[in-house]
Amino acid sequence: MTKITSESFENTEKAFVAKSDWQLKKAYWLFKIVNNNTMARLSTRSANLALKMHLPVKGIIKNTVFEHFCGGESIEESQETVAMLNKYGIGAILDYSVEGKHDEAAFDNALKETMRTIENAKGNDKIPYCVFKPTGMGSAELMEKIQLGKELNDEEKAAFGRVRERYYKLGQAAHDSNIRLLIDAEDSWYQQTIDNLLYEMMEKFNKERAIIFNTYQMYRWASLQNIKDAHARGKEKGFVLGAKLVRGAYMENERERAVEKGYQDPICADKHATDKSYNDGLKYCVENIGEIELFNGSHNEYSNMYLTELMKKHDLAKDDPRIYFSQLYGMSDNISFVLGAEGYNVAKYVPYGPIKHVMPYLIRRAEENTSVAGQSSRELNLLYKEIVRRKGN
Ligand SMILES: Cc1cc2nc3c(=O)[nH]c(=O)nc-3n(C[C@H](O)[C@H](O)[C@H](O)COP(=O)(O)OP(=O)(O)OC[C@H]3O[C@@H](n4cnc5c(N)ncnc54)[C@H](O)[C@@H]3O)c2cc1C
Repeated sequence: MTKITSESFENTEKAFVAKSDWQLKKAYWLFKIVNNNTMARLSTRSANLALKMHLPVKGIIKNTVFEHFCGGESIEESQETVAMLNKYGIGAILDYSVEGKHDEAAFDNALKETMRTIENAKGNDKIPYCVFKPTGMGSAELMEKIQLGKELNDEEKAAFGRVRERYYKLGQAAHDSNIRLLIDAEDSWYQQTIDNLLYEMMEKFNKERAIIFNTYQMYRWASLQNIKDAHARGKEKGFVLGAKLVRGAYMENERERAVEKGYQDPICADKHATDKSYNDGLKYCVENIGEIELFNGSHNEYSNMYLTELMKKHDLAKDDPRIYFSQLYGMSDNISFVLGAEGYNVAKYVPYGPIKHVMPYLIRRAEENTSVAGQSSRELNLLYKEIVRRKGN
């Protein structure tokens, strides 16, 4: 098998093998729009507004941006995407992406739906992980209050009791089904509450292998030390650390809040520092792979290549079950499909949910892909390259 180099990720024939000519062109135009900042802002906002006004735009959204970034409106509807990815050696992580609903009924509904994803994944090697977002299961304000060490009233104590119960129900179901469970990371001002809960759960569920995975946003300069501390805790308490590494998606909010509240910016000084923090995190996990399972959630080509090098250096098989590579569905297929074809463990996050409720997720993807944020020009170039390559054949 070939060594992964930066040229490997230029192989557009492998990257877009699953796309028909029509799908390829559609993706090209989608990124073309997204790459234009004004157009991107205008189209996402008007699509959102049109849905709210019950205008008949659902079909258009479903056949364009939704189809590109999401598996379907339900678990059942996402099965086709799961099967397609699996055909190319790529797993799927069904991510119930309904955002912005923060009451007890919504938390219970998210619990029920995430339980369904675990049932659906049980015994299904096409779906190696399940996932949930902390703010889907409980209130951010409540978690922040706990992090600040504030006294909770009886109602709040009961509410946090229910949050714990939801986490433990999911942890137990994942453990009993032998499915790994990723818990996403959001804002630093309540992450400590989640960390504490997850380490407690790791003691219970990660005795033989990692079932519960905490997420480390490596744009936080404290994250590498947090991984080391969690690793030490695992050794002391006898659990395998499940570590999902990402760079982090909420940099602007973090920086703004730090200024507003007058505390030290928790984010690395610049992109270079975040990159170093991320790659050092990968290195630490691979060096301690006997006690840590690693989930590498990144679209950064160097970091993905670097992880393959680290694995080689430590004589690890490409499909070592303790290491997974992951990208979001609809993005960086040049990384996922190439690594999958080379025999590495790869899984795509596949968001799903009713279109109207998945809109915040889609808007974030559009914003992240503007020419300012940078990712879309890379996608555009690759799509264009493949269109030209196919024309030449
Ligand atoms: C499978 C998967 C799961 C994910 N889950 C989560 C999650 O649970 N929580 C979460 O927050 N995000 C999550 N993300 C998003 C992730 O955190 C990144 O925002 C996104 O993947 C872009 O980073 P990158 O590693 O792909 O590569 P790149 O495009 O190389 O890096 C961009 C990132 O670098 C950092 N950065 C950019 N500019 C600066 C700067 N000036 N100073 C400091 N840092 C900078 C930011 O984190 C930015 O997002 C996930 C991504 C993937 C692929």
